[in-house]
Amino acid sequence: MKLDVNALRYLSKDDFRVLTAVEMGMRNHEIVPAELVDRIAGLKHGGTYKVLKNLLKHKLVHHDSSKYDGFRLTYLGYDFLAIKTLVNRGVFSAVGRQIGVGKESDIFEVATEDGTVLVMKLHRLGRVSFRAVKSKRDYLSHRSSYNWLYLSRLAALKEFAFMKALGEHEFPVPTAIDCNRHCVVMSLIQGYPLVQVKQLQNPDDVFETIIGLIVRLAEHGLIHCDFNEFNIMIDDNEKITMIDFPQMVSVSHRNAKMYFDRDIECVFKFFQKRFNLSYEEEREHDEGLVCDSGEDGGRLCFSSIEKSAGFLDKELAASGFTMKDQDDIQKYIEGEKEDGGEDDDDAEDDEDDAAAEEDNDEASDNGPIGVQISSLKIADQPEESAISNTADEKEPLVPENEEDCANVSGDSEDNENDDELTKRLDKERKRAIAAVRGRRKLITSRNSYKDKGRKSSLNSKVQRQALKW
Ligand code: ADP
Ligand code: MG
Repeated sequence: MKLDVNALRYLSKDDFRVLTAVEMGMRNHEIVPAELVDRIAGLKHGGTYKVLKNLLKHKLVHHDSSKYDGFRLTYLGYDFLAIKTLVNRGVFSAVGRQIGVGKESDIFEVATEDGTVLVMKLHRLGRVSFRAVKSKRDYLSHRSSYNWLYLSRLAALKEFAFMKALGEHEFPVPTAIDCNRHCVVMSLIQGYPLVQVKQLQNPDDVFETIIGLIVRLAEHGLIHCDFNEFNIMIDDNEKITMIDFPQMVSVSHRNAKMYFDRDIECVFKFFQKRFNLSYEEEREHDEGLVCDSGEDGGRLCFSSIEKSAGFLDKELAASGFTMKDQDDIQKYIEGEKEDGGEDDDDAEDDEDDAAAEEDNDEASDNGPIGVQISSLKIADQPEESAISNTADEKEPLVPENEEDCANVSGDSEDNENDDELTKRLDKERKRAIAAVRGRRKLITSRNSYKDKGRKSSLNSKVQRQALKW
């Protein structure tokens, strides 16, 4: 999505006040009645209506009069609120080019006052699925409430909490810097997504590192759940960094084993295809790494890993990410739906609640007011009482079909020989984990040189861009 931050410079305190009022109204309303916006914003002499016109012009809100006259925030409006808060906190002071478009996120470079380039990830849950799902499923047509703000904010909070906790346990992840609303700020990884890399100097080492990471994650009680070549960054020294954590689950999740196996399988498939990685067929069986009898029938598997579920719980809680948050986002990710929709209307049409909350929601999440910056000359923060980043929205969630990693990587044709593949993968999985644990017997095709695809461009572009800022 295009993010033109120029308009940010020209928005006034009142503009932000009204924008924030729309945001608050959206806790309980998909479309916020104009009078409610006016009431929350509390501007004198009908000032709200004039401001709403200006916000409309800049596409920060959307006008909807299908049921009643009202407004909702657009992604851009939500972006502006988050960016302004982060700029006011001094987290960064300029927004640069877009470096990634995910399925449900947009990723930009940002720069701090001293020219350090960071990454800002704006979560956009519901962007892809909302229209598609809504048009497909009847039961949604009478569900008027769908809160993408809540879901996106949850995804950002989760990503931030996990990134921070993983970093503290020395996992190779970007440094988590700050988080506000649906926006996460992290360090810039100087590298490329693995999917762009055509050849590696040491594919077997890279492979082992990656499988080792999956195993170590599980030992720490976690499964990435989207561990594929799109979410693994690699630099010129073939150092790995993992990214993208909103879908992570605990090893105690009921489908933990399936997710774990899927992550491993994605890595295997990719390395086989791209780097021609294969294994010594004559290699002795078992290697002492098999599961004990039981359901897994002697193959090396999830259950052979010593896991410590809950290991990161304290750190996650410290970041403000609760079990309830985890449940809510997991529900969305897994596409669990509340059939019947009995409680659909719970949060609807309760204008007084939103107005009443106005005074209570002190902006605990907001930074210092009026920090001066040069690149984004943003007006002062509106008064605290009108702002909240700790909204406690509890809207029904819209389910989304689970994304299979094979689809993500465009390998759908591989599903045909599933049985055979599964068998082979089981075997190879066993060997890979053995290798990771120091009993390595991998053989790979000989890749004698590196070709990092877009190598030339990225680092120098970042530097040039930073200088311009
Ligand atoms: P999504 O959840 O939408 O898949 P990701 O977090 O995987 O988003 O990011 C999408 C792309 O953005 C990545 O493939 C990568 O190219 C780029 N990217 C994300 N985070 C960083 C980072 N910290 N440093 C450099 N590039 C990044
Ligand atoms: Mg990703």
